Amino acid sequence: MITKQNCRCDKCGCAFIPKPKTQRDGEIEYTFFNCDFCGKAFIVSVTDAALRRNIRKYAAFADRQKKSTLSEMELLFAARLKEQNLNRAAELRQMYIREE
Ligand SMILES: [Zn+2]
Repeated sequence: MITKQNCRCDKCGCAFIPKPKTQRDGEIEYTFFNCDFCGKAFIVSVTDAALRRNIRKYAAFADRQKKSTLSEMELLFAARLKEQNLNRAAELRQMYIREE
């Protein structure tokens, strides 16, 4: 995910360091940042309650994996969960973001 990296605004062409913010709209949560110069909003991700829950679930697996070895079943489950999350995130993006 986008962090401390410089990014370039495709509207005004300026480089800036994104400062992600979140905004809630009912169950839907948007993570976005604005261009420092022209203010154009860039949406990083869109999540709903179920997706956020699954992301936390996956993060817990990733966390445990750092400390111990997960069983094959768990690894399989985690990999599937990650894929589901990515698919769902892409779906939500399509549903909620109208690219300019
Ligand atoms: Zn800009």
